[in-house]
Amino acid sequence: MKKNILIIGAGLTGLLLAYRLKKQGIPVTVLEARDRIGGRIHTHLSDRETPIEMGATWLGQQHTALIELLQELQIPIYPQYTEGTAWYEPMANQAPQEVMLPSNGSPSYRIQGGSSALIEQLAQALEKDELYLNTSVTHIKAHDNVIEVITKDQTYTASKVVSTLPPNLLVTDIQFSPELPDTLTSIAKKTHTWMGESIKFGISYPTPFWKKRNWSGTLYSNVFPITEMYDHTTLENGKYALKGFLNNELSTVTREIRKENVFAQLQRTFGEEALNYLSYKETVWKEEAFTFTPYENFVFPHQNNGQAIYQELFYNDRFYVAGSETASQFGGYMEGAVQSAQKCFEHIIKISFV
Ligand SMILES: Cc1cc2nc3c(=O)[nH]c(=O)nc-3n(C[C@H](O)[C@H](O)[C@H](O)COP(=O)(O)OP(=O)(O)OC[C@H]3O[C@@H](n4cnc5c(N)ncnc54)[C@H](O)[C@@H]3O)c2cc1C
Repeated sequence: MKKNILIIGAGLTGLLLAYRLKKQGIPVTVLEARDRIGGRIHTHLSDRETPIEMGATWLGQQHTALIELLQELQIPIYPQYTEGTAWYEPMANQAPQEVMLPSNGSPSYRIQGGSSALIEQLAQALEKDELYLNTSVTHIKAHDNVIEVITKDQTYTASKVVSTLPPNLLVTDIQFSPELPDTLTSIAKKTHTWMGESIKFGISYPTPFWKKRNWSGTLYSNVFPITEMYDHTTLENGKYALKGFLNNELSTVTREIRKENVFAQLQRTFGEEALNYLSYKETVWKEEAFTFTPYENFVFPHQNNGQAIYQELFYNDRFYVAGSETASQFGGYMEGAVQSAQKCFEHIIKISFV
């Protein structure tokens, strides 16, 4: 059989790995459960409004592998806008305060055109018969010389298989024959999926009314429902939005209740103009079945990210557990996803295709 690689998941790890392998002429197949690519990178794009990030948004100078990748693909980055004063709500019974935040020595950057620009460019390298959407893997059967990957409709075979799922999701959602070692399964069940519990919201506006008042668009609050929020204007400064996080506890109430409370909070901080919006978008990541699944026990943020067991291979060196949470540095972040893909690529090239 011709050597081929099957990648489960078309997030940043899966697509970068596929892109690199494809460039080396190695046959790849990517199976993606959702009806879209990107996984935890998800930018809402529209002609009229600014791209709104529902997932990953920021990177820093320390994310060197991601920066190199963006340079290689010629995708520019630009600093997060923070000029002017911020709003701070200390307590429910205290008035919001306008504050000047100290300047940030290590600014955050955003990706021009939205984080999905990176995802789209990587996916362009793949042909239609190399990337399948709506294809959820349910079962993996390992044999001596081959691995079978089973979905509802089909069985795929590959000489090597790479999972890019968050580890807790991998061992909860997918059945393995023979079973994976307990050492891997027990760590995976206790590995935190970064941002899996978060709620993101974005509001698009016809004008950047906050900038006219010398407000940065930043809000930090200890009061329900917004916890933090930032300006989300495009690099060209032509389309405008505010974007941030809601208190995670709000996953139990309806979208309407969340939205109503968001605008009540914006009215008392940013004033009446905050009500003159174009669109309100949100993602409750706990409800995203292909990102989050409940843990058996409480786990801390980043718990077990980059564990030594993720650096091992399974089923006669035919099965890799990759993905951002497995990276030994920056686990959970886009940088971790890039590092994981690069490491997996280098390993596959070294041991299989010399
Ligand atoms: C709200 C939010 C904000 C974030 N903010 C930042 C940020 O500002 N900066 C930063 O660096 N990082 C941020 N992150 C983290 C960043 O998004 C991730 O580190 C990165 O995107 C992970 O990529 P990945 O490919 O490893 O995993 P994922 O993106 O999770 O990809 C896994 C893929 O597997 C697919 N899949 C799942 N189950 C199956 C199955 N059974 N069969 C087939 N496919 C399946 C999923 O649909 C998904 O596409 C954020 C994440 C979220 C959710």
